[in-house]
Amino acid sequence: MVYAHPVQTSSLGNTSFGAHMSSFKEQFLDILFPRHCLGCDVLLGKEAVSYVCRRCLKTIPFTESFACTFCKSPVKNGKTCPYCIKNHFLDELFVTTSYENPLAEKMLKTMKYRFVASLANDIADLMIGYLKKRAVIGLGPYSTPSLVVPVPLHFKRLNWRGFNQAEIIGRQISNYLELDFAADALKRVKNKKPQADMPNRFLRIKNAQNVFKLNSIHIHHKTIDDTLTGKIVLLVDDISTTGSTLDDCARALKGAGAKKVIGFVFARNKI
Ligand SMILES: [Zn+2]
Ligand SMILES: [Zn+2]
Repeated sequence: MVYAHPVQTSSLGNTSFGAHMSSFKEQFLDILFPRHCLGCDVLLGKEAVSYVCRRCLKTIPFTESFACTFCKSPVKNGKTCPYCIKNHFLDELFVTTSYENPLAEKMLKTMKYRFVASLANDIADLMIGYLKKRAVIGLGPYSTPSLVVPVPLHFKRLNWRGFNQAEIIGRQISNYLELDFAADALKRVKNKKPQADMPNRFLRIKNAQNVFKLNSIHIHHKTIDDTLTGKIVLLVDDISTTGSTLDDCARALKGAGAKKVIGFVFARNKI
């Protein structure tokens, strides 16, 4: 039987969960219920910070090709296709693996619904592995991102789950790429009008501020105004389905001056 700890939340509060942090509760649960690999059920050592053994992690294949985020047609280097870009804001999307891989799906579901924050570290490691192998982000002087922004969770969901997986993942990726990390750049607020009702791009940008609002940008504990003007943002989430969440975030970021928004997710789900 594959066992995952039933409830794990950060003891450090909602938004400050550090990388590879093992809380007292996690250590306590380890004594009661030793961790088994989610893939092969092998017993993992006490020092393990993950829930998947090295061997199983290596079986998760990296994405070989690129498809437009919105129409799924084949594209080069993750770019949104020339037709979809006219009505969307996300410029590029990089996808580490497929949700159709059973272990990738299990990792995502266990993290989200069984509150296993540590799995976000495994997911971030795989995403960094993808970057190392494919070296797709930051190629060329005009496409290098200058900061990493995580997709925010609605506060109700954050209270329920106790951590934002996109934040844990985004922080590790920013460390690896040596980029600034703006954890609280975006805030999810109530959507007042459906985007489909908005007749033009300008109004859609305005309306997106009802879904995701620019919150505040703290980098190195300093609040910086105008940080986004002319910048390329790397927007991180665990999963993308229709691309609409990433696009809503990209709208808000561009509304605040960002020049380009590049999405980076662990897996893409089928619609
Ligand atoms: Zn295993
Ligand atoms: Zn397209």
